[in-house]
Amino acid sequence: MKYLIVANWKMNPPNQKEAKQLFYLKKNGLKNLKNIEVVICPPFSYLSSFKFPVPNFQLGAQNCFWEQSGAFTGEISPLMLKNLECQYVIIGHSERRRILKETDEMINKKLKAVLEAGLKPILCIGETQEERNKGKTETILKNQIEKALKNVPSYKLQVTRFCIAYEPIWAIGTGKPCLLQEALKAKVFISKVLKVLLGKKIAEKIKILYGGSVSSKNGLSYIKEAKMDGLLVGAISLKPKEFIKLITYNL
Ligand code: PEP
Repeated sequence: MKYLIVANWKMNPPNQKEAKQLFYLKKNGLKNLKNIEVVICPPFSYLSSFKFPVPNFQLGAQNCFWEQSGAFTGEISPLMLKNLECQYVIIGHSERRRILKETDEMINKKLKAVLEAGLKPILCIGETQEERNKGKTETILKNQIEKALKNVPSYKLQVTRFCIAYEPIWAIGTGKPCLLQEALKAKVFISKVLKVLLGKKIAEKIKILYGGSVSSKNGLSYIKEAKMDGLLVGAISLKPKEFIKLITYNL
């Protein structure tokens, strides 16, 4: 099994020259990876800036719409992403849920459209600080998974490489990463929910990633101690040295 390291560049860098620089620094610093697949998720406007295929690297998008074409001003379809050599699409990132008001119903539609286009969805789930304080983490996670997967035939998840990223909202971009014990508890719980929903055989193949203030120092602990199948990284994905260190020193 390969660990998945997803680099979410968010709305960065400001121009194509810097985007290319960032990509090629990572590519050149991460040759001969054995047990790792790196997924680079730049803004849409840079998706066609890099030459693929690159060994052990894949291209991903940070979002998409739920229709494949038509009168949807300003949107990008999964089919368009597929035609740009994208393999993965992040769905339901907390910044989109919170700032762009994406609902679980919208996320469910996006997930179905991504699967229909033959792409691999990375579904983000996670609780707020307030929900955590009230002891509601598990209820929130279960609800988000069930709503995202509503009426998604399990065989579709079997043929694709569907992943879940557990990203506690309070840990994203705050420099306050989740405690390892807490991350492990979430991982075990998510696996349990997936087993009930999809059956053991399919659930066991689904990768569960951790995201939230990952650094080159703490990354390994989430994989070794919290048993995560990979990481979703934001801030350090824009710092090539630290990103390369996270992968080469640790894994
Ligand atoms: C994210 O954007 O999903 C994320 C985990 O960001 P950061 O690593 O900066 O906390």
